[in-house]
Amino acid sequence: MKTLRLILGDQLNSNHSWFDNAESNVYYIMMEVATETSYATHHIQKVVGFFASMRNFSADLKKKGFNFEYIKLTDKTNLHSFEANISRILERDKFESFEYQLPDEYRLDQLLINFCLTLKIPSKAVDSEHFFSHRNELGDFFDGKKTFLMESFYHYMRKKHRVLMVGDAPVNGKWNFDKSNRKKLPKSTKPAPPLEFENDTTSILKEIQDADCKTIGTIDAKRFLWPVNRRQSLELLNHFVDEFLPHFGDFQDAMTPNDWSLYHSRVSFSLNTKMLSPLEVINAAIAKWEGDKNSISYNQVEGFVRQIIGWREYMRGIYWLKMPDYSKLNYFENTNKLPDWFWTGKTKMNCLKFSINQSLDFAYAHHIQRLMVTGNFALLAGIDPDEVDAWYLGIYIDAIEWVEITNTRGMSQFADGGIVGTKPYVSSASYIDKMSHYCGSCYYDKSKKTGPKACPFNSLYWNFYDKHEDKLGKNPRIGMMYNLWRKMKPDHKAELLEQAQYYLEHLNDL
Ligand SMILES: Cc1cc2nc3c(=O)[nH]c(=O)nc-3n(C[C@H](O)[C@H](O)[C@H](O)COP(=O)(O)OP(=O)(O)OC[C@H]3O[C@@H](n4cnc5c(N)ncnc54)[C@H](O)[C@@H]3O)c2cc1C
Ligand code: SF4
Repeated sequence: MKTLRLILGDQLNSNHSWFDNAESNVYYIMMEVATETSYATHHIQKVVGFFASMRNFSADLKKKGFNFEYIKLTDKTNLHSFEANISRILERDKFESFEYQLPDEYRLDQLLINFCLTLKIPSKAVDSEHFFSHRNELGDFFDGKKTFLMESFYHYMRKKHRVLMVGDAPVNGKWNFDKSNRKKLPKSTKPAPPLEFENDTTSILKEIQDADCKTIGTIDAKRFLWPVNRRQSLELLNHFVDEFLPHFGDFQDAMTPNDWSLYHSRVSFSLNTKMLSPLEVINAAIAKWEGDKNSISYNQVEGFVRQIIGWREYMRGIYWLKMPDYSKLNYFENTNKLPDWFWTGKTKMNCLKFSINQSLDFAYAHHIQRLMVTGNFALLAGIDPDEVDAWYLGIYIDAIEWVEITNTRGMSQFADGGIVGTKPYVSSASYIDKMSHYCGSCYYDKSKKTGPKACPFNSLYWNFYDKHEDKLGKNPRIGMMYNLWRKMKPDHKAELLEQAQYYLEHLNDL
């Protein structure tokens, strides 16, 4: 039967069983469509990174003898929607069946289900053969339970896939070594430089500009630094295990203005586009540790494995269990607008200035910058989660809704009321100072809570707890903070709330 198979931009899995053999009556289609470039204002490096990787993927498989058609953004025949382009090709070449891999985004899942209902030929959706868990596995695992806990899902994944296990017990007797992973980077420590590729993407950039695609951020298109094929993705992974894994866990939460990725792997783009599989990523880390236990302590490798087989799979499971309602949740009923400087980096707050500027320059910030700097501020400032989501979905090269929204709306903004996390991730300046080198040279004073130059995080932090006491006051995980707040002198409380109010009224000037 003459079959057309669709491949989406985040389905660049060359080890998929579809590619075991090239069959003469099976054709593949990939496309760059305007609807995908405009559903958020994306970082220019994200659009370039996706298109370059998609083009390389299709060219590689074509070379191996697969029938591939690739529709570029600027092609005259491009109808700029999945449905219109596929319909045209099905009709033009008289296809007898249509197949696709299950998308990871709810929006595209619905689009393809509805599209297939309109077809007069048979259609079929197959697994993307990427994740450890299937879409509904988390829902099945927590069936009948009132709360979800990443940690229990993580144990289940480790047992099921026999990862870092000795019989039925975890290696070294404990599941989680997170307590060893909270070190500040010593000022004298200089991690090796990040591996940056030098891909020439000038022609792709020109096509994107010619198509008037609205983007944010900067790019050096002659030396595009992100991996754009499987070979480079593997190189990045190997560089990580050789250079950074030995310190990954120790400095996982550390932040500094001098280094944009520290000991992080930066494999999220390759993983989320499926150029790398999560299994090969954790296997590479485990193999390195097994071969070099003298220089790589166990907390480094467990910390890394947990991010992938734990958090990543957990977020995906929550997404499929809770969408589409999840995308509208706003537990604190926040309505403030995102300050303009989120788009320019022009703020006097050092932590935000550096985290946002590096995001604009590299389309990347590591987890703690996303969670405890930008996300922390947005939550304390009462920003509408729709605005926060739009920013995160646009700015990061790895941002795809299933993993962006669960992290942003869930983990970072607590807009889901506690589905992903058990308490909101907020802090005053003391945490940021403990984990970073930002505060020392900041315009604001980290130790001042009120008065001129008082660090905005300090008063906004108490204002947040005060404002949401009805929703958070009984949460046992933050009982200590409420005890402190309730014991504070009324005058001091009033001063803090007044200072916070001033900052909230002047968000754009901070
Ligand atoms: C507000 C917010 C938004 C985020 N948006 C995204 C997003 O759009 N896309 C995305 O892939 N990650 C997102 N994350 C999770 C995490 O920050 C990134 O995966 C990580 O920073 C990517 O960099 P890395 O590859 O160097 O990660 P490393 O620190 O080296 O970690 C290794 C891998 O673990 C996985 N991982 C780590 N933490 C998480 C997590 N919380 N959820 C899912 N996977 C995780 C990633 O695949 C990552 O590549 C977000 C986190 C926050 C707090
Ligand atoms: S003093 Fe406050 S605003 Fe400045 S870097 Fe520290 S936490 Fe950020």
